[in-house]
Amino acid sequence: MLNPIRVIAEAFVPIGKGLGVTLNHALRMLRTRSKAKFTVEYPDERREQYPRTRWRHYLTRYENGLEKCIGCSLCAGACPARCIYVEAADNTDTDRRSPGERYARRYEINMLRCVFCGYCQEACPTGAIVLRKEFELADYDRADFLYTKEMLLEPIGLREARGERQEARTQPEPV
Ligand code: SF4
Ligand code: SF4
Repeated sequence: MLNPIRVIAEAFVPIGKGLGVTLNHALRMLRTRSKAKFTVEYPDERREQYPRTRWRHYLTRYENGLEKCIGCSLCAGACPARCIYVEAADNTDTDRRSPGERYARRYEINMLRCVFCGYCQEACPTGAIVLRKEFELADYDRADFLYTKEMLLEPIGLREARGERQEARTQPEPV
């Protein structure tokens, strides 16, 4: 036969414990409300991003302006979403874009398919493709999410303006 006291205890003790935890948090919030601020007034205020945050892609350059990308397509091969398209072309003496034999004539990323995993950045042997912290990527037209090389390639001198360190990992600077 059911013991009514035991039934009541089993039903109400966990509820009481849960309410106690809630009350405890509520009181703690009230106590610290004047010191701690939980709401960020975006877009007027912006929270500092974590150091390894990965958002918008960029194709970077060496300090002398040459493109780091050598059109090897390793990034496209590593991409799990298959959203990178690379078309390579040969550098010539009169038209040199990168220090290597080849450069990316076409480089596109379909940002609608990208999952921002950073595998392309990891796979790149020259440190050409990087994901930076710019997260405001919303747009109105699907076609605008196809980022072309012109959109991805950093303007010459941008890194110096940002005061960033040299990011080349393996490719030596041409002399
Ligand atoms: S971040 Fe990931 S999904 Fe996006 S382009 Fe790079 S490898 Fe592909
Ligand atoms: S971004 Fe890097 S991995 Fe991708 S094609 Fe260029 S050099 Fe190769």
